[in-house]
Amino acid sequence: MKERILELTNKYFDEMVAYRRDIHQHPEVAYQEERTMGVIAKALTEMGIEHKTGVGGYGVVGLIHGGKGEGKCIGIRADIDALAVNEATDLPFSSVNEGVMHACGHDMHTAGLLGVARVLNDMKDEFKGTVKLIFQPAEEKSPTGGAPYMIEDGVLENPKVDAIIALHVWPGIETGAAAVRFGPMMASSDRVNIKIKGRSCHASQPQDGVDAIVLAGQVISALQTVVSRNVPPLESAVLTFGVIRGGKIYNVVSDEVILEGTMRNLNFAVRDMMPKRIEAIVKGVTEGMGGSYEFDFSPGYPPVVNDPAVTEHVYAAMQDVMGDKAVIAPHSALGGEDFAFFGEKVPISYFWLGVDSPHIKSAPIHNAGFNPDEQALSYGCQTLCNAALRFLNE
Ligand SMILES: [Zn+2]
Ligand SMILES: [Zn+2]
Repeated sequence: MKERILELTNKYFDEMVAYRRDIHQHPEVAYQEERTMGVIAKALTEMGIEHKTGVGGYGVVGLIHGGKGEGKCIGIRADIDALAVNEATDLPFSSVNEGVMHACGHDMHTAGLLGVARVLNDMKDEFKGTVKLIFQPAEEKSPTGGAPYMIEDGVLENPKVDAIIALHVWPGIETGAAAVRFGPMMASSDRVNIKIKGRSCHASQPQDGVDAIVLAGQVISALQTVVSRNVPPLESAVLTFGVIRGGKIYNVVSDEVILEGTMRNLNFAVRDMMPKRIEAIVKGVTEGMGGSYEFDFSPGYPPVVNDPAVTEHVYAAMQDVMGDKAVIAPHSALGGEDFAFFGEKVPISYFWLGVDSPHIKSAPIHNAGFNPDEQALSYGCQTLCNAALRFLNE
């Protein structure tokens, strides 16, 4: 199987690169991926693969039925949207859409999945069950993302999906290497908004008011204890306030301060606990000092937690393709990823694919200089095909 996958991947490699460059040159941000959807649909039509467009926005779902009869259904997912970043790479196929760039590598994911479509379509007599190709829009649109809309539109039904696998290109790992984890891989990403309310008065007569700025100072300090004292030391958590806004003029005691922050977790129980502690502290501090508050917690992406059984197949496939360059990642990342919404419904497995060309460390993702090594398309395509066939034929 491994040799056949390699042979076909090599056969379609140049085509994958061409798709990648075309998509890279014409990036579209979340909820605007109309052209990208067209490119994918046209490619699947040319391959003779049945598919449906407009799933959960500009999503596309393709189906490849195995020739060995009924069996399980595996989903393989690629996100297709770009970012509002002004490209600074000098590539000959740089973005022609000013202020928009595939700075998260979703062009690589999309082209890679088109390669997978080619290879598995050619190999359909060698597996039973079904491969569902899931081209998902709007990954970058936190807190909702495109995944829940695809689920609403029935992507997990007809046929019912038994597991979904995906990859993300990962600078910091060299081309020809990859990393996965059994269990948490990416973090939840939730928003915390707090309004602290005091009462304004003359700056020289603070006894007549309630100073929302002083309250905010106490609240921010007290909230540091949530991560340090309430989260178990072996768990990961982040509570960062990126916005503080309050006060109108230097000689008036401020009556209102807004705090906006993000909360990240890898564990569902900790994610459940933290907002309750945050609100209790905000309430205690503000009311204790004579003020009041409004607390708004908006859940965003859940954590990506890799299913151990599906990950066995992915890890075995990675090793088959990349040998000892396929490793267990030493730790999770605290970035968010809306692939997690699929994980709330079916077992998932997600891995990081190295894209640093030899001796050159790539710029980070979401950076205007991000330039992944296209050679990685081959390793990604082979691994996804290999893992899918392992899952279907087990
Ligand atoms: Zn991103
Ligand atoms: Zn991404």
